[in-house]
Amino acid sequence: MKLKRSLLETTTATPSTMGSEIKPPASGILTSPDRLRKIDQLREKNIDVILPLPTLVAVGDQSSGKSSLLESVTGIPFPRGQELCTRYATQITHRRDPEVQIIITIIPAPQSTEAEKASLRSYRKELSSTTELRDQFAKILDEVNVYMKIKTVKNPDGEKTFSRDILKIEKCGPTEDYLTVIDVPGIFRLTSKGQTTESDRNLVRDMVTGFIKDKRTIILAVLPANVDVMTQEILALAEQYDPDGERTLGVLTKPDLVIERSAKEAVCNLVAGRKKALNLGYYLVKNRGGDDNDDSKDDSGIRRKERDLFQQSPWCNLPQERVGVAALRERLQDLLGEITDKAYPELRSEARKKLAEAREQQDALGPPRQTEREQQQYLAQIAAKFQRIVRAALEANYSTHSAFDEHGLRLITQVVSIIDTFNNRMRQKGHTYSFVKVETEPSGDAAADKADDSEEEEDASEHGVDKNTTTNAKEVRQAFPELESIIHMVEEPSAEFTVLQDNSNWIRNMYNESRGIELGTFSPIILASAFRDQTTKWSLMTEHHVSDIILSIHKFILSILKLVCSDGKLFEAIKSIIMDDLLARYASGMDYAKFLVQVEREKKPYTVNHYFSSNLQKARGDRISEALKGKRIHDNRCHAPAAYVVKFDHVKSAITNKSNQEHAQEDIHDILKSYYKVSRKRFVDNVWLYAVDHHLLSGPNSPLTLFSEQWVLGLDEDSLNAIAGESRSTRDKRKELTKKIADLEEALRILK
Ligand code: GDP
Ligand code: MG
Repeated sequence: MKLKRSLLETTTATPSTMGSEIKPPASGILTSPDRLRKIDQLREKNIDVILPLPTLVAVGDQSSGKSSLLESVTGIPFPRGQELCTRYATQITHRRDPEVQIIITIIPAPQSTEAEKASLRSYRKELSSTTELRDQFAKILDEVNVYMKIKTVKNPDGEKTFSRDILKIEKCGPTEDYLTVIDVPGIFRLTSKGQTTESDRNLVRDMVTGFIKDKRTIILAVLPANVDVMTQEILALAEQYDPDGERTLGVLTKPDLVIERSAKEAVCNLVAGRKKALNLGYYLVKNRGGDDNDDSKDDSGIRRKERDLFQQSPWCNLPQERVGVAALRERLQDLLGEITDKAYPELRSEARKKLAEAREQQDALGPPRQTEREQQQYLAQIAAKFQRIVRAALEANYSTHSAFDEHGLRLITQVVSIIDTFNNRMRQKGHTYSFVKVETEPSGDAAADKADDSEEEEDASEHGVDKNTTTNAKEVRQAFPELESIIHMVEEPSAEFTVLQDNSNWIRNMYNESRGIELGTFSPIILASAFRDQTTKWSLMTEHHVSDIILSIHKFILSILKLVCSDGKLFEAIKSIIMDDLLARYASGMDYAKFLVQVEREKKPYTVNHYFSSNLQKARGDRISEALKGKRIHDNRCHAPAAYVVKFDHVKSAITNKSNQEHAQEDIHDILKSYYKVSRKRFVDNVWLYAVDHHLLSGPNSPLTLFSEQWVLGLDEDSLNAIAGESRSTRDKRKELTKKIADLEEALRILK
């Protein structure tokens, strides 16, 4: 059966006094009970882990009497002076609740792992009275040591001397008032061999400062009256975090142990505020001594031993509101109310700020991705976004995405410019030999020829060559070592070429060395090998420009991928998985370009393009008119300035006066010239259409189509998990944030 009774005992109840009802202190009037109640609700939801709440913390040297003081103030029968000292912080909370009970739980340290947190949170003890607590306390503390993994004689498997976990003792009852105090391990100066280490010392100091640095904490600086107060480290520490002394209250303990008159006088000077004044002043209390089991109280709930002591000189001459546990308790409640009133508006704005921060952090994590389906959805969504940007880039639809503000990402524009450069360079310097230009007089129907000739190859200076798009070998090697085996970083061949005359040695030698028993003509093999000679630079020039295009595409793909991936880890994971396929697709574009070069150069020259025959006929016509140029006479019947006639016999001799060899060489020159032009144009077009557009840009197997939703759907479970799976820490972080957000939302509801 649960004992339904108030547990508000100002001092520890012994079995003999159990049952004697003790009234709440007279000044139970809180400055803002409603607010204190709300703060308490927040504490109940463990929100003080996120948002420091108004609290009282007892700090001081080891054995200064902290635990004893808290026992006096809260009625919780602390084990005092046992073992080395307190190994963790203990939070004692009073909560007004219809049911009388004491609940003991553990608040895990924020840095614990999820598993540790779960284990620590599973600890819970419910007791119906302080008597029960007293009976079981030693056992409970042993259990707590096991949960917190603290090494003791009874728990030799423990791993640590101190813990950052907090033991929480909630004292509930209908008449409880809102008071929360925290007992922390004492600050110890000497590290005792085998028990505490330097790092323990730092940990404790860290823990203590963690509590006292918050401006909503009232620091109870506990100082034994029987030693020199000025030597106590805690006062200096408190001053460091509360320089104006606005929230530091001195509590002197053990007055019964002060023997000398001068020592008593020093204590009185402190309490009366005559010396070393703290803003909030000093209080004097007497707790239960080590061997003191007499806990009897008078009618107003004051321990007889304490009352008797303070009735003696010199203590009886001190201001009574500064002497005794009851007076201190009253003051503490007032102080807590004041601090709470002051902190209240700030708590709301801070909760709002923390909530916004937590939501931002949650957003940054992206949607959860633990199951295979979640991972697939997450990746598919990223791939879809990637493909949207790719489409826009191919359509030059640059207004759709801010990524295109960066000029390097305007893919199609860049590629088209590289192809233009390729086309220009092929025209200007793709050939080994430059053909001779036969001078012709402009004739009436020659306008079209003129237009066609105007873009002839010799006129290199006319076409500006874009130097910027050429591949910088060093840059590529450093930035994209993965491309080294695919793209060609050789410099383009020089623009030098030999002017080719139809009687030049090259054609003559070739003709002489490979002529057969042709009758009046020449072997087509001569033409094929002449064409190969003429196109030796094509291979390098093509590889060079396709390399430029691959580089542009590669940079584009990586930049967009980085853009759509929320974090660098994901980007790296996707990149490393797609890389091999990506390189294979670049290679297939490059191979196709090489294939086109090979076909164009190795096949027997042929074309069905009528430009070839019209070019050839024109060349032949030019030759005859050149031969007849000296024989022409002005046509008197016609008034046009350029109207000439020739004698019929002259025409005959112009064609027949040549040797077979001369004739063949002229023909080779003219055919080669006509064919080269048609072939070059066809070739550049094919490189664009097949190697670049189809293989590298918009074809179904282009590198740009690789990272797609389809690709994501094809991933097996392991690859999916490797790319999109959440690391344990992300998972933990997500869980923690979800809880934090829920807690803060609840906090804001409470603080409304
Ligand atoms: P803590 O280490 O600061 O928590 O100190 P404790 O509360 O454990 O106290 C250390 C020892 O001092 C214990 O044996 C207490 O009984 C004793 N003690 C604490 N306060 C008083 C007091 O006011 N008078 C006497 N005589 N002993 C006290
Ligand atoms: Mg203690």
